[in-house]
Amino acid sequence: MTELFGWGRFPKIQSRELTPKSEAELAAILRNSKSYIARGNGRAYGDSAINKNLTVTMTHINRFLRWNAKSGELIAESGVLIADIIDTFLPRGWFPYVTPGTKFVSLGGAIACDVHGKNHHKDGSFGNFVNWIDLINEDNQVLRCSRSENADLFRWTIGGMGLTGVILRCSIQLKKIESGWIKQRSVINNNLSESLKSFHENKDAQYSVAWIDCLATGKSFGRSILLLGEHAKKDEVKQKSAVFPKVRNQKFSLFFDAPGFLLNNFTVSAFNKLYFNFSKFMPSSCVDWDTYFYPLDSIGNWNRIYGKEGFFQFQCVLPEEVSLEGYTKLFFAIQKKSSGSFLAVLKDFGSGNGYVSFPRKGLTLALDFKASKINIALGKQLTDMVNDFGGTIYLAKDAIMEDVQYNPTFSKDEFLKYRNRFIKSEQSIRVKL
Ligand SMILES: Cc1cc2nc3c(=O)[nH]c(=O)nc-3n(C[C@H](O)[C@H](O)[C@H](O)COP(=O)(O)OP(=O)(O)OC[C@H]3O[C@@H](n4cnc5c(N)ncnc54)[C@H](O)[C@@H]3O)c2cc1C
Repeated sequence: MTELFGWGRFPKIQSRELTPKSEAELAAILRNSKSYIARGNGRAYGDSAINKNLTVTMTHINRFLRWNAKSGELIAESGVLIADIIDTFLPRGWFPYVTPGTKFVSLGGAIACDVHGKNHHKDGSFGNFVNWIDLINEDNQVLRCSRSENADLFRWTIGGMGLTGVILRCSIQLKKIESGWIKQRSVINNNLSESLKSFHENKDAQYSVAWIDCLATGKSFGRSILLLGEHAKKDEVKQKSAVFPKVRNQKFSLFFDAPGFLLNNFTVSAFNKLYFNFSKFMPSSCVDWDTYFYPLDSIGNWNRIYGKEGFFQFQCVLPEEVSLEGYTKLFFAIQKKSSGSFLAVLKDFGSGNGYVSFPRKGLTLALDFKASKINIALGKQLTDMVNDFGGTIYLAKDAIMEDVQYNPTFSKDEFLKYRNRFIKSEQSIRVKL
Protein backbone atom coordinates (compact mmCIF):
# COMPACT_ATOMS: atom_id res chain seq x y z
CA MET A 1 0.00 0.00 0.00
CA THR A 2 1.14 3.53 -0.74
CA GLU A 3 0.05 6.79 0.88
CA LEU A 4 -1.47 8.83 -1.94
CA PHE A 5 -2.69 12.41 -2.00
CA GLY A 6 -3.37 15.15 -4.51
CA TRP A 7 -1.49 18.42 -4.88
CA GLY A 8 -3.13 19.78 -1.70
CA ARG A 9 -1.63 16.89 0.36
CA PHE A 10 -5.11 16.53 1.85
CA PRO A 11 -6.65 14.01 2.33
CA LYS A 12 -3.93 11.35 2.57
CA ILE A 13 -5.21 7.90 1.66
CA GLN A 14 -3.67 4.40 1.66
CA SER A 15 -4.10 2.81 -1.75
CA ARG A 16 -2.73 -0.04 -3.81
CA GLU A 17 -0.95 1.79 -6.63
CA LEU A 18 0.16 0.14 -9.86
CA THR A 19 2.11 1.92 -12.58
CA PRO A 20 1.92 -0.07 -15.84
CA LYS A 21 4.80 0.43 -18.27
CA SER A 22 3.01 -0.70 -21.42
CA GLU A 23 -0.48 -0.93 -22.90
CA ALA A 24 -0.35 -4.74 -22.52
CA GLU A 25 0.47 -4.44 -18.81
CA LEU A 26 -2.34 -1.90 -18.39
CA ALA A 27 -4.83 -4.20 -20.12
CA ALA A 28 -3.87 -7.09 -17.81
CA ILE A 29 -4.34 -4.91 -14.72
CA LEU A 30 -7.75 -3.63 -15.80
CA ARG A 31 -8.97 -7.09 -16.83
CA ASN A 32 -8.59 -8.29 -13.24
CA SER A 33 -10.02 -5.26 -11.44
CA LYS A 34 -13.54 -4.44 -10.35
CA SER A 35 -12.83 -1.11 -8.64
CA TYR A 36 -10.13 1.31 -9.76
CA ILE A 37 -9.34 4.83 -10.96
CA ALA A 38 -6.75 6.14 -13.42
CA ARG A 39 -4.26 8.69 -12.13
CA GLY A 40 -2.17 11.09 -14.16
CA ASN A 41 0.49 13.24 -12.50
CA GLY A 42 -1.43 13.83 -9.24
CA ARG A 43 -1.92 17.59 -9.78
CA ALA A 44 -5.65 17.59 -9.00
CA TYR A 45 -5.85 18.97 -5.48
CA GLY A 46 -8.01 16.43 -3.65
CA ASP A 47 -8.97 12.76 -3.96
CA SER A 48 -10.27 12.56 -7.53
CA ALA A 49 -7.30 10.45 -8.67
CA ILE A 50 -7.28 7.95 -5.79
CA ASN A 51 -9.14 4.68 -5.26
CA LYS A 52 -8.30 2.80 -2.03
CA ASN A 53 -8.62 -0.53 -3.81
CA LEU A 54 -6.52 0.31 -6.88
CA THR A 55 -5.03 3.46 -8.36
CA VAL A 56 -3.57 2.98 -11.84
CA THR A 57 -0.92 5.62 -12.45
CA MET A 58 -0.52 6.33 -16.16
CA THR A 59 2.69 8.38 -16.19
CA HIS A 60 4.81 5.63 -17.78
CA ILE A 61 2.46 5.28 -20.72
CA ASN A 62 3.87 8.41 -22.20
CA ARG A 63 5.10 8.11 -25.77
CA PHE A 64 4.63 10.61 -28.58
CA LEU A 65 3.10 8.53 -31.40
CA ARG A 66 2.75 10.84 -34.40
CA TRP A 67 3.38 14.49 -35.26
CA ASN A 68 2.12 16.42 -38.23
CA ALA A 69 4.43 19.40 -38.66
CA LYS A 70 2.10 21.01 -41.20
CA SER A 71 -1.18 20.91 -39.30
CA GLY A 72 0.10 20.81 -35.69
CA GLU A 73 -1.79 17.62 -34.86
CA LEU A 74 -0.09 15.57 -32.13
CA ILE A 75 -1.00 11.97 -31.29
CA ALA A 76 0.32 10.87 -27.92
CA GLU A 77 -0.26 8.50 -25.03
CA SER A 78 -2.18 9.87 -22.07
CA GLY A 79 0.76 9.95 -19.64
CA VAL A 80 2.59 12.58 -21.72
CA LEU A 81 2.90 15.84 -19.75
CA ILE A 82 2.20 19.32 -21.09
CA ALA A 83 5.80 20.05 -20.01
CA ASP A 84 7.04 17.32 -22.40
CA ILE A 85 4.97 18.79 -25.25
CA ILE A 86 6.35 22.29 -24.71
CA ASP A 87 9.88 20.98 -24.40
CA THR A 88 9.65 19.17 -27.74
CA PHE A 89 7.40 21.39 -29.84
CA LEU A 90 7.97 24.96 -28.64
CA PRO A 91 11.37 25.13 -30.39
CA ARG A 92 9.45 24.24 -33.61
CA GLY A 93 6.95 27.07 -33.01
CA TRP A 94 4.00 25.19 -31.47
CA PHE A 95 2.31 25.60 -28.07
CA PRO A 96 -0.80 24.10 -26.39
CA TYR A 97 -3.97 26.05 -27.17
CA VAL A 98 -5.08 25.76 -23.54
CA THR A 99 -2.90 25.27 -20.51
CA PRO A 100 -3.61 25.28 -16.77
CA GLY A 101 -1.40 27.09 -14.22
CA THR A 102 1.10 24.22 -14.02
CA LYS A 103 2.77 22.42 -16.92
CA PHE A 104 3.11 19.20 -14.90
CA VAL A 105 -0.26 17.75 -15.89
CA SER A 106 -0.77 14.72 -18.12
CA LEU A 107 -2.88 14.67 -21.27
CA GLY A 108 -5.22 12.18 -19.53
CA GLY A 109 -5.66 14.55 -16.57
CA ALA A 110 -6.10 17.58 -18.85
CA ILE A 111 -8.90 15.82 -20.76
CA ALA A 112 -10.55 14.21 -17.72
CA CYS A 113 -10.77 17.61 -15.96
CA ASP A 114 -11.26 19.56 -19.22
CA VAL A 115 -8.77 22.07 -17.87
CA HIS A 116 -9.02 25.77 -18.61
CA GLY A 117 -6.42 28.49 -18.90
CA LYS A 118 -6.30 32.28 -18.97
CA ASN A 119 -7.96 32.30 -22.41
CA HIS A 120 -11.25 30.53 -21.68
CA HIS A 121 -13.21 33.66 -22.64
CA LYS A 122 -11.59 33.44 -26.11
CA ASP A 123 -10.86 29.76 -26.83
CA GLY A 124 -12.77 27.67 -24.29
CA SER A 125 -11.24 24.67 -22.53
CA PHE A 126 -8.75 21.89 -23.35
CA GLY A 127 -11.44 19.60 -24.80
CA ASN A 128 -12.02 22.04 -27.66
CA PHE A 129 -8.62 21.07 -29.06
CA VAL A 130 -8.95 17.30 -28.69
CA ASN A 131 -9.66 15.58 -32.04
CA TRP A 132 -10.20 12.09 -30.69
CA ILE A 133 -9.61 9.90 -27.66
CA ASP A 134 -8.93 6.14 -27.45
CA LEU A 135 -10.79 5.05 -24.32
CA ILE A 136 -10.70 1.69 -22.56
CA ASN A 137 -14.30 0.80 -21.70
CA GLU A 138 -15.95 -1.55 -19.19
CA ASP A 139 -15.36 -4.57 -21.45
CA ASN A 140 -11.68 -3.65 -21.74
CA GLN A 141 -12.10 -2.74 -25.39
CA VAL A 142 -10.42 0.32 -26.85
CA LEU A 143 -13.05 2.64 -28.34
CA ARG A 144 -12.18 5.57 -30.61
CA CYS A 145 -14.33 8.56 -29.56
CA SER A 146 -14.57 11.84 -31.40
CA ARG A 147 -17.16 14.40 -32.43
CA SER A 148 -18.30 12.00 -35.18
CA GLU A 149 -17.62 8.54 -33.67
CA ASN A 150 -19.09 7.53 -30.26
CA ALA A 151 -19.81 11.24 -29.96
CA ASP A 152 -21.76 11.09 -26.68
CA LEU A 153 -19.06 9.09 -24.94
CA PHE A 154 -16.52 11.65 -26.23
CA ARG A 155 -18.50 14.56 -24.75
CA TRP A 156 -19.02 12.89 -21.36
CA THR A 157 -15.35 11.89 -21.19
CA ILE A 158 -14.16 15.49 -21.59
CA GLY A 159 -14.40 16.79 -18.03
CA GLY A 160 -15.80 13.43 -16.86
CA MET A 161 -13.15 13.05 -14.11
CA GLY A 162 -11.92 9.72 -15.49
CA LEU A 163 -15.26 8.03 -14.69
CA THR A 164 -16.20 7.00 -18.25
CA GLY A 165 -13.06 4.92 -18.93
CA VAL A 166 -9.28 5.00 -19.01
CA ILE A 167 -7.89 7.41 -21.58
CA LEU A 168 -5.16 5.54 -23.42
CA ARG A 169 -4.11 7.94 -26.17
CA CYS A 170 -5.44 11.00 -27.92
CA SER A 171 -5.01 13.39 -30.80
CA ILE A 172 -4.74 17.08 -29.95
CA GLN A 173 -4.25 20.27 -31.93
CA LEU A 174 -1.35 22.59 -31.08
CA LYS A 175 -1.23 26.32 -31.82
CA LYS A 176 1.30 27.94 -34.14
CA ILE A 177 3.17 30.79 -32.45
CA GLU A 178 5.94 33.11 -33.60
CA SER A 179 7.82 33.31 -30.31
CA GLY A 180 7.88 31.98 -26.75
CA TRP A 181 7.35 35.46 -25.32
CA ILE A 182 4.21 37.08 -23.92
CA LYS A 183 3.57 40.81 -23.92
CA GLN A 184 2.13 41.51 -20.49
CA ARG A 185 0.42 44.56 -19.08
CA SER A 186 -1.49 45.11 -15.89
CA VAL A 187 -4.61 47.05 -14.94
CA ILE A 188 -5.12 48.15 -11.34
CA ASN A 189 -8.66 47.88 -9.99
CA ASN A 190 -9.39 49.59 -6.69
CA ASN A 191 -12.50 47.67 -5.63
CA LEU A 192 -14.70 44.72 -6.54
CA SER A 193 -16.98 46.44 -9.03
CA GLU A 194 -13.95 47.88 -10.88
CA SER A 195 -12.42 44.37 -10.83
CA LEU A 196 -15.48 42.81 -12.46
CA LYS A 197 -15.89 45.63 -14.95
CA SER A 198 -12.29 45.44 -16.09
CA PHE A 199 -12.77 41.89 -17.40
CA HIS A 200 -15.51 43.25 -19.72
CA GLU A 201 -13.40 46.17 -20.79
CA ASN A 202 -10.53 43.84 -21.71
CA LYS A 203 -12.51 41.04 -23.36
CA ASP A 204 -10.34 41.20 -26.47
CA ALA A 205 -7.14 40.30 -24.64
CA GLN A 206 -5.93 36.79 -25.51
CA TYR A 207 -5.07 36.00 -21.89
CA SER A 208 -6.45 37.54 -18.73
CA VAL A 209 -6.33 36.68 -15.06
CA ALA A 210 -6.79 38.83 -11.97
CA TRP A 211 -4.98 38.45 -8.70
CA ILE A 212 -7.53 39.55 -6.11
CA ASP A 213 -6.96 40.65 -2.53
CA CYS A 214 -9.96 39.13 -0.81
CA LEU A 215 -8.77 40.25 2.64
CA ALA A 216 -8.82 44.00 1.79
CA THR A 217 -11.60 45.92 3.54
CA GLY A 218 -13.38 49.30 3.29
CA LYS A 219 -12.81 51.28 0.09
CA SER A 220 -10.32 48.64 -1.15
CA PHE A 221 -12.73 45.69 -0.77
CA GLY A 222 -12.20 43.39 -3.76
CA ARG A 223 -9.26 45.30 -5.24
CA SER A 224 -7.30 43.41 -7.86
CA ILE A 225 -4.60 43.49 -10.50
CA LEU A 226 -5.72 42.24 -13.90
CA LEU A 227 -2.84 40.77 -15.87
CA LEU A 228 -3.34 40.74 -19.63
CA GLY A 229 -1.19 38.93 -22.17
CA GLU A 230 -0.66 38.49 -25.91
CA HIS A 231 1.80 36.28 -27.80
CA ALA A 232 4.69 38.41 -29.01
CA LYS A 233 5.51 38.32 -32.71
CA LYS A 234 9.03 37.35 -33.77
CA ASP A 235 10.07 40.94 -34.50
CA GLU A 236 8.83 42.06 -31.07
CA VAL A 237 11.36 39.88 -29.22
CA LYS A 238 14.42 41.72 -27.90
CA GLN A 239 17.40 41.24 -30.20
CA LYS A 240 19.62 39.39 -27.74
CA SER A 241 16.90 37.03 -26.51
CA ALA A 242 16.23 33.54 -27.86
CA VAL A 243 12.96 33.53 -29.86
CA PHE A 244 11.94 30.32 -28.08
CA PRO A 245 13.46 30.49 -24.58
CA LYS A 246 14.06 27.29 -22.63
CA VAL A 247 12.29 26.28 -19.43
CA ARG A 248 13.54 28.13 -16.30
CA ASN A 249 15.42 26.21 -13.62
CA GLN A 250 13.54 25.77 -10.35
CA LYS A 251 14.64 28.67 -8.12
CA PHE A 252 14.34 26.61 -4.94
CA SER A 253 12.44 23.70 -3.47
CA LEU A 254 10.70 23.12 -0.15
CA PHE A 255 12.01 19.87 1.32
CA PHE A 256 9.94 19.99 4.51
CA ASP A 257 6.46 21.04 5.63
CA ALA A 258 6.45 24.71 6.65
CA PRO A 259 5.30 25.38 10.24
CA GLY A 260 1.50 25.61 10.34
CA PHE A 261 1.45 29.06 11.99
CA LEU A 262 3.33 30.70 9.09
CA LEU A 263 0.17 31.53 7.17
CA ASN A 264 -2.49 33.41 9.08
CA ASN A 265 -4.73 36.38 8.33
CA PHE A 266 -2.05 38.78 9.54
CA THR A 267 0.86 37.46 7.41
CA VAL A 268 -1.31 36.91 4.35
CA SER A 269 -2.92 40.31 4.48
CA ALA A 270 0.55 41.92 4.90
CA PHE A 271 1.76 39.95 1.84
CA ASN A 272 -1.31 41.01 -0.16
CA LYS A 273 -0.73 44.68 0.72
CA LEU A 274 2.92 44.52 -0.31
CA TYR A 275 2.13 42.69 -3.55
CA PHE A 276 -0.62 45.13 -4.48
CA ASN A 277 1.48 48.22 -3.82
CA PHE A 278 4.51 46.76 -5.59
CA SER A 279 2.48 45.72 -8.65
CA LYS A 280 1.12 49.25 -9.11
CA PHE A 281 4.54 50.15 -10.45
CA MET A 282 4.97 47.07 -12.62
CA PRO A 283 5.71 48.27 -16.17
CA SER A 284 4.31 46.58 -19.29
CA SER A 285 6.85 43.98 -20.26
CA CYS A 286 7.66 40.97 -22.39
CA VAL A 287 8.04 37.83 -20.28
CA ASP A 288 9.01 34.30 -21.27
CA TRP A 289 6.25 31.65 -21.56
CA ASP A 290 7.35 29.81 -18.40
CA THR A 291 7.27 32.91 -16.18
CA TYR A 292 3.92 34.00 -17.64
CA PHE A 293 1.96 30.73 -17.61
CA TYR A 294 3.64 28.82 -14.78
CA PRO A 295 4.96 31.21 -12.10
CA LEU A 296 4.48 28.63 -9.34
CA ASP A 297 6.36 25.86 -11.15
CA SER A 298 9.64 27.64 -10.40
CA ILE A 299 9.29 26.72 -6.70
CA GLY A 300 9.61 22.96 -6.24
CA ASN A 301 7.10 21.41 -3.79
CA TRP A 302 5.50 24.75 -3.01
CA ASN A 303 2.51 22.75 -1.78
CA ARG A 304 4.41 22.14 1.48
CA ILE A 305 4.04 25.80 2.46
CA TYR A 306 0.69 25.14 4.16
CA GLY A 307 2.27 22.79 6.69
CA LYS A 308 1.73 19.11 7.30
CA GLU A 309 -2.07 19.32 7.49
CA GLY A 310 -2.03 20.20 3.79
CA PHE A 311 -4.50 22.51 2.06
CA PHE A 312 -7.42 22.52 -0.31
CA GLN A 313 -8.45 24.82 -3.09
CA PHE A 314 -11.91 26.26 -3.33
CA GLN A 315 -12.82 27.05 -6.94
CA CYS A 316 -16.29 28.05 -8.00
CA VAL A 317 -17.96 29.73 -10.94
CA LEU A 318 -20.88 32.12 -10.47
CA PRO A 319 -23.24 33.21 -13.25
CA GLU A 320 -22.24 36.62 -14.57
CA GLU A 321 -25.41 38.42 -13.47
CA VAL A 322 -24.84 37.59 -9.76
CA SER A 323 -21.07 38.08 -9.69
CA LEU A 324 -21.04 41.33 -7.74
CA GLU A 325 -23.56 40.26 -5.11
CA GLY A 326 -22.21 36.71 -4.92
CA TYR A 327 -18.52 37.56 -4.57
CA THR A 328 -19.30 40.33 -2.08
CA LYS A 329 -20.99 37.75 0.16
CA LEU A 330 -18.25 35.17 -0.33
CA PHE A 331 -15.45 37.64 0.50
CA PHE A 332 -17.27 38.83 3.63
CA ALA A 333 -17.55 35.23 4.81
CA ILE A 334 -13.86 34.61 4.02
CA GLN A 335 -12.77 37.73 5.90
CA LYS A 336 -14.86 36.79 8.92
CA LYS A 337 -13.82 33.18 9.27
CA SER A 338 -10.72 32.12 7.36
CA SER A 339 -7.24 31.70 8.73
CA GLY A 340 -5.24 32.95 5.81
CA SER A 341 -5.80 32.40 2.13
CA PHE A 342 -2.71 33.12 0.13
CA LEU A 343 -3.54 32.99 -3.53
CA ALA A 344 -6.85 34.20 -4.89
CA VAL A 345 -7.40 34.47 -8.62
CA LEU A 346 -10.36 35.46 -10.73
CA LYS A 347 -10.82 34.42 -14.37
CA ASP A 348 -13.42 35.07 -17.02
CA PHE A 349 -15.17 32.07 -18.59
CA GLY A 350 -16.91 31.96 -21.96
CA SER A 351 -19.66 29.40 -22.52
CA GLY A 352 -19.16 25.83 -21.36
CA ASN A 353 -19.96 22.56 -23.15
CA GLY A 354 -23.00 21.60 -21.03
CA TYR A 355 -21.66 18.19 -19.94
CA VAL A 356 -19.71 17.36 -16.72
CA SER A 357 -17.01 19.84 -17.66
CA PHE A 358 -16.72 22.67 -15.09
CA PRO A 359 -16.36 25.92 -17.08
CA ARG A 360 -19.53 27.82 -17.92
CA LYS A 361 -20.33 31.49 -18.60
CA GLY A 362 -19.36 33.63 -15.62
CA LEU A 363 -16.42 34.53 -13.42
CA THR A 364 -14.47 31.87 -11.59
CA LEU A 365 -12.71 32.41 -8.25
CA ALA A 366 -9.97 30.10 -6.95
CA LEU A 367 -8.32 30.33 -3.57
CA ASP A 368 -6.24 28.09 -1.36
CA PHE A 369 -7.00 27.36 2.30
CA LYS A 370 -4.95 25.52 4.86
CA ALA A 371 -6.88 22.32 5.65
CA SER A 372 -7.78 23.34 9.21
CA LYS A 373 -11.13 22.47 10.80
CA ILE A 374 -12.23 26.13 10.64
CA ASN A 375 -11.35 26.42 6.96
CA ILE A 376 -13.03 23.14 6.02
CA ALA A 377 -16.23 24.35 7.70
CA LEU A 378 -15.84 27.67 5.86
CA GLY A 379 -15.27 25.87 2.54
CA LYS A 380 -18.54 24.00 3.01
CA GLN A 381 -20.35 27.21 3.91
CA LEU A 382 -18.95 28.88 0.77
CA THR A 383 -20.12 25.89 -1.28
CA ASP A 384 -23.69 26.34 0.02
CA MET A 385 -23.52 30.03 -0.90
CA VAL A 386 -22.30 29.17 -4.41
CA ASN A 387 -25.21 26.75 -4.83
CA ASP A 388 -27.66 29.44 -3.68
CA PHE A 389 -26.33 31.72 -6.41
CA GLY A 390 -26.72 29.01 -9.04
CA GLY A 391 -23.00 28.42 -9.36
CA THR A 392 -20.92 25.26 -9.14
CA ILE A 393 -17.62 23.86 -7.79
CA TYR A 394 -14.62 22.57 -9.77
CA LEU A 395 -14.14 18.87 -9.02
CA ALA A 396 -10.43 18.99 -9.94
CA LYS A 397 -9.84 21.20 -6.91
CA ASP A 398 -12.42 19.82 -4.49
CA ALA A 399 -11.46 17.74 -1.44
CA ILE A 400 -14.24 18.55 1.02
CA MET A 401 -17.65 18.80 -0.66
CA GLU A 402 -20.43 16.59 0.75
CA ASP A 403 -22.76 14.64 -1.54
CA VAL A 404 -25.76 16.82 -0.69
CA GLN A 405 -23.75 19.88 -1.68
CA TYR A 406 -22.81 18.65 -5.12
CA ASN A 407 -24.96 20.54 -7.54
CA PRO A 408 -24.40 19.00 -10.98
CA THR A 409 -25.52 21.32 -13.71
CA PHE A 410 -25.77 18.44 -16.21
CA SER A 411 -28.20 15.52 -16.42
CA LYS A 412 -26.86 12.90 -13.99
CA ASP A 413 -29.12 10.21 -15.52
CA GLU A 414 -27.64 10.85 -18.94
CA PHE A 415 -24.10 10.73 -17.51
CA LEU A 416 -24.84 7.39 -15.81
CA LYS A 417 -25.47 5.83 -19.23
CA TYR A 418 -21.82 6.43 -20.14
CA ARG A 419 -20.20 5.99 -16.71
CA ASN A 420 -17.99 2.91 -16.28
CA ARG A 421 -19.30 0.76 -13.36
CA PHE A 422 -15.83 -0.40 -12.27
CA ILE A 423 -14.36 3.08 -12.02
CA LYS A 424 -14.58 4.89 -8.71
CA SER A 425 -12.52 7.58 -7.10
CA GLU A 426 -12.66 8.50 -3.42
CA GLN A 427 -14.20 11.77 -4.65
CA SER A 428 -16.85 10.09 -6.80
CA ILE A 429 -17.83 7.95 -3.79
CA ARG A 430 -17.91 11.04 -1.52
CA VAL A 431 -20.06 13.18 -3.85
CA LYS A 432 -22.04 10.21 -5.21
CA LEU A 433 -21.19 10.77 -8.85
C1 LIG B 1 -0.44 24.73 -9.42
C2 LIG B 1 -1.66 24.22 -10.11
C3 LIG B 1 -2.35 25.05 -10.96
C4 LIG B 1 -3.49 24.59 -11.62
N1 LIG B 1 -4.13 25.45 -12.46
C5 LIG B 1 -5.22 25.03 -13.11
C6 LIG B 1 -5.86 25.89 -14.04
O1 LIG B 1 -5.45 27.02 -14.26
N2 LIG B 1 -6.94 25.39 -14.71
C7 LIG B 1 -7.40 24.12 -14.51
O2 LIG B 1 -8.38 23.74 -15.15
N3 LIG B 1 -6.80 23.30 -13.63
C8 LIG B 1 -5.72 23.71 -12.92
N4 LIG B 1 -5.10 22.86 -12.07
C9 LIG B 1 -5.64 21.50 -11.89
C10 LIG B 1 -4.99 20.52 -12.87
O3 LIG B 1 -4.78 21.11 -14.12
C11 LIG B 1 -5.94 19.35 -13.10
O4 LIG B 1 -6.30 18.75 -11.89
C12 LIG B 1 -5.33 18.26 -14.02
O5 LIG B 1 -6.32 17.32 -14.27
C13 LIG B 1 -4.17 17.53 -13.36
O6 LIG B 1 -3.65 16.58 -14.27
P1 LIG B 1 -2.93 15.28 -13.73
O7 LIG B 1 -2.30 14.59 -14.88
O8 LIG B 1 -2.06 15.61 -12.59
O9 LIG B 1 -4.19 14.41 -13.27
P2 LIG B 1 -4.52 13.75 -11.85
O10 LIG B 1 -4.50 14.78 -10.81
O11 LIG B 1 -3.64 12.58 -11.63
O12 LIG B 1 -6.01 13.26 -12.13
C14 LIG B 1 -7.06 14.21 -12.25
C15 LIG B 1 -8.31 13.53 -12.80
O13 LIG B 1 -8.02 13.03 -14.11
C16 LIG B 1 -8.31 11.63 -14.19
N5 LIG B 1 -7.31 11.02 -15.08
C17 LIG B 1 -5.98 11.23 -15.11
N6 LIG B 1 -5.41 10.49 -16.08
C18 LIG B 1 -6.41 9.78 -16.67
C19 LIG B 1 -6.46 8.83 -17.74
N7 LIG B 1 -5.37 8.45 -18.41
N8 LIG B 1 -7.66 8.32 -18.06
C20 LIG B 1 -8.80 8.69 -17.41
N9 LIG B 1 -8.80 9.58 -16.40
C21 LIG B 1 -7.63 10.13 -16.03
C22 LIG B 1 -8.20 11.12 -12.75
O14 LIG B 1 -8.99 9.96 -12.58
C23 LIG B 1 -8.74 12.32 -11.97
O15 LIG B 1 -10.16 12.28 -11.95
C24 LIG B 1 -3.95 23.27 -11.39
C25 LIG B 1 -3.26 22.42 -10.53
C26 LIG B 1 -2.12 22.89 -9.89
C27 LIG B 1 -1.37 21.95 -8.98
